[in-house]
Amino acid sequence: MTLREQLEERERRTLSPHATPACSSRGRARPEAEHDYRTAFQRDRDRILHAKAFRRLKRKTQVFLAPEGDHYRTRLTHTLEAAQIARTVARALFLNEDLTEAIALGHDLGHTPFGHAGEVVLNEVYGPGFIHAEQSLRVVERLESTRRGPGLNLTYEVCDGIRHHSKGEGVLMSRDDERACTLEGRVVSVCDAIAYISHDIDDALRARIILPSDLPKTAVAVLGDTTSERINTMVVGLIEGSKDRVIAMVPEVLDATNSLRSFLYGCVYPCASINKEISKAKRLLRDMYFHLLDHPTDEILRASAEDSVERRTVDFLASMTDQYALNLYARWFLPAGWQV
Ligand code: MG
Repeated sequence: MTLREQLEERERRTLSPHATPACSSRGRARPEAEHDYRTAFQRDRDRILHAKAFRRLKRKTQVFLAPEGDHYRTRLTHTLEAAQIARTVARALFLNEDLTEAIALGHDLGHTPFGHAGEVVLNEVYGPGFIHAEQSLRVVERLESTRRGPGLNLTYEVCDGIRHHSKGEGVLMSRDDERACTLEGRVVSVCDAIAYISHDIDDALRARIILPSDLPKTAVAVLGDTTSERINTMVVGLIEGSKDRVIAMVPEVLDATNSLRSFLYGCVYPCASINKEISKAKRLLRDMYFHLLDHPTDEILRASAEDSVERRTVDFLASMTDQYALNLYARWFLPAGWQV
């Protein structure tokens, strides 16, 4: 018996009957021989961690554009915090931690530079539309590649969890047909929200965009006064509210979490000091998109001819870090000083 088979056997013995053991995976688009030491989901987690798109997350905006302060979150630290929270919940519910971690590490790979501002612009300029969750799936299925071919060839369950992590309104997914097929995927979807609600408020306090006294009082009374207390209350509320095949939150905690989320969308994200830079970033990306259609770069010309030039241009723009986009824009549109 290989170590991987022993690990699979342990999953069968110890995980919840509602969990997704690696041996029950629906498999990969291109079948591969199993590894002796790692389960299919462990391999997926490792493939995502070693992908170039994962490393680029460190220079992509979470909320604050290209922050100079070292303590503000980036898309990478958001991803790591979401993965830690999701693993805690998965472990407590006896779900598959490896599958949970793989989905969490991959969920935001398709995010554009400049956060949701980039997503809004690409969705406007590109006819078929742009949704970051779908772009994350495109990154792992097509844009990243290994020596075996295009894409990371991940398991069905990891791809499904990445595709279905976005929730629209609220913390919990309201529509059944938009949920991930595994409980692990549904846990990531909620923990993504727990992570961003907690750390975006923490960053907004650090930036003095809001004061602690601005936070909705009833929500703070339920969730706690500090970031760590609030994460803990939400995580415990999620663990205690979930049962059998239902991932849910204790109602009082859910209400308080949704109220903090509404506060972020109503009072923090639209605030003038964030928005001033966001509208510049939007104009920059829009200009770059139309410039690239007329002057495609080598990256765009080399990309798969199966895709339209517009599609390849969107892929190129979405892949950029904030700084890469700023540098390219400056090279194309700003006059350079004369180098003596
Ligand atoms: Mg996220």
